[in-house]
Amino acid sequence: MTVPGTISRRAALGALCGAAALTLPRAARAAAPLQVVATTGMIGDVVASVGGAEVQARSLMGPGLDPHAFRPTRTDILAMARADMVAWHGLGLEAQLEPFLADLAGTKPVVALGETVPEDRLIPHDEYADAHDPHVWMDPELWALVALAARDHLAEVRPGAASAFTANAEAYGAEAARLHGYAQEVLASVPEAARVLVTAHDAFAYFGRAYGFEVLGIQGISTESEAGLNRIGELVEVLVGRRIGAVFVESSVSDRNIRALIEGAAARGHEVIVGGELFSDAMGPAGSYEGTWVGMIDHNVTTIAGALGGRVPQRGLNGRLSAGL
Ligand SMILES: [Zn+2]
Repeated sequence: MTVPGTISRRAALGALCGAAALTLPRAARAAAPLQVVATTGMIGDVVASVGGAEVQARSLMGPGLDPHAFRPTRTDILAMARADMVAWHGLGLEAQLEPFLADLAGTKPVVALGETVPEDRLIPHDEYADAHDPHVWMDPELWALVALAARDHLAEVRPGAASAFTANAEAYGAEAARLHGYAQEVLASVPEAARVLVTAHDAFAYFGRAYGFEVLGIQGISTESEAGLNRIGELVEVLVGRRIGAVFVESSVSDRNIRALIEGAAARGHEVIVGGELFSDAMGPAGSYEGTWVGMIDHNVTTIAGALGGRVPQRGLNGRLSAGL
């Protein structure tokens, strides 16, 4: 049995919504920015940059948030349900979100932008045979490809703005190319024997491949795996044996294991310092230069090169790095 009051209220609501839509001029409706919800800050950065004025992008994961362990709140779920499009990274990065996104894909465009990188340019996962390392934002050449994929997906949803998306994606690609050139130059100034990057988890394999650095993570590719005492012991051997003087902490991962490494090396009479904090899986504070993808990578490149004996401009590629980070 239906309740008459409910029906009439619904009908009234419908009439109201209809009336509101009618009073809005067609042009104004078409020009309202596309509402895109992105999962990570890096995906949000691509979508906002390529989308420009046509897109309002919002990222669910803020500074310091670990995407491997991310679980959406009720507000996040609602935001995704209401968005015109959802952009996520994929490649197993947001493991907890996958079932929800698979369901949502039946109702609206849900695109895994990280998965658009050609398979032959992906690095195999260290634990799962059929999977790949998701941390592709660490290589500017790969990230520029992700911007092209964002251009194509946005143009599918809003074909009228295709030329704007193309111009924005080109600008993003040019900036990525400039960043890549800078990284090549400053990282090549690090003495060859010192080109070893020791960090909390394996987020830097793409960085290492792009710039000729050996990368040693305490944890595996996902922060969900526990680092064993054995692994810490092994890395202490490497630090002592190769006289590596600096290791790095990460903004989105606990530095407990890094401290254990430093203490282990000290017990063997080898001094290791923390070379700085790197942005691995999350960008810096919103509104800051480091809170953009370019600023994040500039910070990492400049911090790594500087701590390992390379020559770097104090404030990085664009003279905009914060002194205190
Ligand atoms: Zn990671």
